[in-house]
Amino acid sequence: MPLTAIEDLSFAYGLNHYLLDRPLRDVLRYHLGREPDLEGLGSYAGREVYELAYRVDRLSQPLLVTWGAGGERVDRVWLDPMERRVLEDLAYRYGVNGMPFRDGGWHGFYASINLLGDPGLSCIVTITVQTAYALWKYGGEGLRGYFEGLAGFRKPLMIGATWFTEIQGGSDLGANTTTAVRGGDGVWRLTGYKYFASGAGLADVALVSARPRGGRPGAKGLALFAVPRVRRGGGLNYYVRRLKDKSGTIAVPTGEVELADSEAFLVGDLDKGIYYILEDLMVSRLANSAGAVGIARKAYLEAYGFARVRRAFGRRIIEHPLVRRDLLEMEVLVEESLALTHKAVSLFEASAGDRPPYSRTYHYARLLTHIAKNMTAQAAARVTMLAMELFGGIGFLREFPVERWHREALITPIWEGTSNIQALDMLEALWRKRAYEPLLEDLRGMEAEAYDRGLAGRARSYAEARLREAASMSPREAEFNAKYLLEDLGHSIAVVLLEHMASRLGEERYHRVAEIVYGSLLQRRPITNPGDGVVDEVITLSGSLEA
Ligand SMILES: Cc1cc2nc3c(=O)[nH]c(=O)nc-3n(C[C@H](O)[C@H](O)[C@H](O)COP(=O)(O)OP(=O)(O)OC[C@H]3O[C@@H](n4cnc5c(N)ncnc54)[C@H](O)[C@@H]3O)c2cc1C
Repeated sequence: MPLTAIEDLSFAYGLNHYLLDRPLRDVLRYHLGREPDLEGLGSYAGREVYELAYRVDRLSQPLLVTWGAGGERVDRVWLDPMERRVLEDLAYRYGVNGMPFRDGGWHGFYASINLLGDPGLSCIVTITVQTAYALWKYGGEGLRGYFEGLAGFRKPLMIGATWFTEIQGGSDLGANTTTAVRGGDGVWRLTGYKYFASGAGLADVALVSARPRGGRPGAKGLALFAVPRVRRGGGLNYYVRRLKDKSGTIAVPTGEVELADSEAFLVGDLDKGIYYILEDLMVSRLANSAGAVGIARKAYLEAYGFARVRRAFGRRIIEHPLVRRDLLEMEVLVEESLALTHKAVSLFEASAGDRPPYSRTYHYARLLTHIAKNMTAQAAARVTMLAMELFGGIGFLREFPVERWHREALITPIWEGTSNIQALDMLEALWRKRAYEPLLEDLRGMEAEAYDRGLAGRARSYAEARLREAASMSPREAEFNAKYLLEDLGHSIAVVLLEHMASRLGEERYHRVAEIVYGSLLQRRPITNPGDGVVDEVITLSGSLEA
C-alpha cells in the first residue's frame, strides 16, 4: 500500500504535468521548433513536488535556527529534508538552474517553473537563478565560483537571493537607505535593514541594493552588491532577525535581514545599479508569470477532475452549461497567459546579451513582461477562485489542495512589483522607451501570417486605438487609467499571438481560444453557440485529460 494519502485528496497528483499539458508543449514548439524534453520533470512535478508542497504548507515550514549548540550565532534556516532533496534534484537531476546558461535556454527554465507551480519552491529556484544571471553577466571572475554553485555546475548547490525591499518602501526602491562604504581592501561594507528577504538564512550569496555613501538620492543612486553569507575570515556576514508568518509561499523562508558592516562585492558599475536591478527583476517577473500560469494549471486540473466525478441534479457537474463555461474561462485564461509569457521570454532571451542603455528589443521585452506579469497574476487569482468554487463547500477546506492554490495565487500580483507598479512601468516603457513602436510592428507582422487575419487585425486595431487614447491623456489621467490599458493590451496582444500560433502550428484550436479571448474577455460579449466539440476540445486540452 502506498504510504501517501494525497492521491485520495487530489485529482492532479500522480499525473505527468508536462505530457498532459498540450498548450504548454505547443507554446514551446511554437518558439523552439521542437518540444524540449521535460517529461521526467513533468512526472516529478506531478508526484514528489506536488506532495512536498502540500506537506510543507501544512506541516513542515522552514525553521529559523538562531543559535548553535556552542553558543554561536548561526541564523540558518532548516528545511524539510525532502525539500532539500527536491532542490538538489531540480538543480542536478533536471538541470533547471543551469538551463538559461546551457541548451535548455530560458524557455526550458520558465517551463520548469510553470511545472513546479508552487511559488515557495519556485521562488527559491528563481532567486538562485536571478543571482546566477547577474553574476554571470556583471559579476566578473572574482564571483565566478558563486555563479557555478548557483547554476548547479558544481557541488554543493548554492542558493541565491535578491534583497531590495526596505520597510519604507518596496515599490519605491529609490527610498532605500542601506548604505555602502568602500574599504581600503576594495571590499565594500553594507549597513541597513532589508524588510522582505526571501531566502534569508538559506542564501549563500545575495544580491543587495545599497547607496554608496555620498551618492545621489533616488533610484539612480543605487548600486548592486553581492553579499556572501559568511565573511572572508569566517563568521556570519548578515543576521536574520525573524521569519515572516505568511499566508502562502511557505516553502521559501522570507525574513528580515540586518546588514551590519557586511562585506559586499560590487556587481558591475557603481552608477548602474538600478539598471541591473530592473534587469534582474525581469528574470523574476517572468518567473512570476510562468509560475502563476503553473498555479492556475494545477487548480484547473483539480477542478476538471472534480467536475467529472461530482454529481448534482442527477448529472455530473461537468455536464451543466455553467460549469462548462467556468472551465472554458479558466482554460482560456491559462492559455492566453501562457502565450503572452513565452512571447515575453523570447524577447528577453533575444536581448539577454544587452547592457545599459539597452536595445529596443530589450525595452519591448520589458513592456511585455509588465503586461504578462499582470495578466498571469490576475488569471491565477481568478482561475484558482473558480476552481475553489467548483469544489463547492469542500473547496474551502484546508485539507484539499485546491484551497492552497488560491492562497498561493494571491502572492503573484504583489511581489516582484504590484500590479500598479507594472502599470506605471508599462507607461514608462511605452512612451519614454518608445516600446510601442516594436510592439505595433510585431503585431502587424504576426497579423500578416495569422490563421484568421480578420480577427488578428481587429485585435491589433483595438490595441492601437487604446494606445492612441492613452497618448492623448494628461499624465494624471493616463496614470489613473493605466491598469485598464495594461489589461486590454494583454488581451489584444494575446489574440494576435494565438492567431499566429494557430497558423504556425497548424492548430485551429488556438484560433478558437483567440475568438473567446476577443469576444468574451475583451469585448465582454456572450459566447454564442458554444459548440460542445469546441468546448470539449479546449477544456480537455485537446483530449490530453481524457486518458
Ligand atoms: C512573501 C513575500 C516575499 C518577498 N520577498 C522579497 C524579496 O526576497 N526581496 C525583496 O526585495 N522584496 C521581497 N518582497 C517584497 C515585495 O516585493 C514588496 O512587498 C512589494 O514590491 C510591495 O512593496 P511594499 O510592500 O513596500 O508596498 P508599498 O510599496 O508600500 O505599496 C503599498 C501599496 O501602494 C501601491 N503603490 C505604491 N506606490 C504606488 C504608486 N506610485 N502608484 C500606485 N500605487 C502605488 C502598491 O501597489 C501597493 O498596493 C516580498 C514580499 C512578500 C509578500
